[in-house]
Amino acid sequence: MQAADNTVVLIHYTLTGDSGEVIDTSEGREPLAYLQGSGNIIPGLEKALSGKRAGDKLKVSIEPADAYGIREDELVQVVPRSAFGGAADLEVGMQFQAQTPAGVRVVTIVEVEGDDITLDGNHPLAGERLHFDVVVAEVRAATEEELTHGHVHGPGGHHH
Ligand code: ZN
Repeated sequence: MQAADNTVVLIHYTLTGDSGEVIDTSEGREPLAYLQGSGNIIPGLEKALSGKRAGDKLKVSIEPADAYGIREDELVQVVPRSAFGGAADLEVGMQFQAQTPAGVRVVTIVEVEGDDITLDGNHPLAGERLHFDVVVAEVRAATEEELTHGHVHGPGGHHH
């Protein structure tokens, strides 16, 4: 079976950045399962996997626009410490949901300087070119329930 809209695709992958550092890998885990055509994974990778079959291997480089987007400067804001309702221990790297000019986003604290807290609403991989080394483990038809939910159930997918 070929990966097409409404099929479930299971992949083993290693993701590296431009400088060759490994950002994420499925090595040692069960393969990642996603529903082709549902935007479960970044658009560039979904496109590259279209038409692939179990056993196919591919290496693909994906530009930021087809990955986690380009960086948007207006998503970086400085807010006063008081905006956190007196929460202690604000540290660089902490993440939470917040209102931004682009709607509710996961934001990351990127700088703490006295009472000035700098938040970045860009995805941590925004602006990065991503390199995927992928082996297709399996392609199967999606169940009715998976199509209704828009995601995969069972191994490598949602458990609920
Ligand atoms: Zn579900």
